[in-house]
Amino acid sequence: MGEGTVEFTANVYGDTTNVSLSNTLHVPDLRTNLMSIGKITDRGLEVHFRKNDATILDSKGNIMLIANRVGDLYFVNENGQEVCATSSVSRNKEVTLELLHRRLGHANTKDISSAVREHVVRGVRLANTPEKFNCEICLQGKMSRSPFPRRSNRLNKVLDLVHTDVCGPMRTQSLGGAKYFIEFIDDASRWCEVRFLKSKAEVFKATTEYIALVENQKGKKVKCLQSDNGGEYTGKEFDDYLKKRGITRRLTAPYNPEQNGTAERKNRTLLDMARCLLKESNLPNSFWAEAVNTANHLRNRLPTKSLDGRTPYEGVRS
Ligand SMILES: [Zn+2]
Repeated sequence: MGEGTVEFTANVYGDTTNVSLSNTLHVPDLRTNLMSIGKITDRGLEVHFRKNDATILDSKGNIMLIANRVGDLYFVNENGQEVCATSSVSRNKEVTLELLHRRLGHANTKDISSAVREHVVRGVRLANTPEKFNCEICLQGKMSRSPFPRRSNRLNKVLDLVHTDVCGPMRTQSLGGAKYFIEFIDDASRWCEVRFLKSKAEVFKATTEYIALVENQKGKKVKCLQSDNGGEYTGKEFDDYLKKRGITRRLTAPYNPEQNGTAERKNRTLLDMARCLLKESNLPNSFWAEAVNTANHLRNRLPTKSLDGRTPYEGVRS
């Protein structure tokens, strides 16, 4: 997050020495402060490691720091807790829109730049570079694009309506043995959850587990489930389960994916992004489940047109 000088006093055999560490990086998530031996020796200092301790000496042989060994690590002997960062300069470098586009799974550049400008994303500074660029990976990865009509009337409360769809079988089995994935999209927040399945026989189990989870987490009930009328959604077991919980369903006609537009669109977005992620990283297709999972993580945190530019992440919390 930042870079600065850390000053503290060290205990050297009972004496106190003042130590100043310049060009120190501030990493809030790091639980332990680390010193780089390479950076120390680069400055002409010497580091001597022994079985129970280590010493850092200046060029004249004066001991600057002592570290005692605990387990396999050597801990610097500080005096009390006077460690403090004296100055901090932001190290947030500017990034180009193109780099952000690649990091965010090749998402729509308009969504990304509006997210940055409206401070949905913190800590990102966009470089002043052209907003238009040609992305090879997008050209290769997103070939299947035909728009689905957007649905009109919206129910507005979380879990009032959940869209679900199964995608697969994939050509390659995932590392975890999956051939399909199932998605659940909350209509109001657009928050999407994906699960990976070995066969369509797991759809019922995945659905009941999803419903149990979200109902408990949100303290609300799912009211309506929308899916196509594929066999995996329509058996007696499924019907009984929904009836018992008072969940109505909306079935869409077979071979009419447009009717199940929200879920079908999501399918496509996730697969497009996953394909780009695999190409970008040069990973084999057996990583498709990891890629779809990552794509879903990203999409849940990117602005969504149907939420007027807000993110599902915000939607699910409001
Ligand atoms: Zn791209």
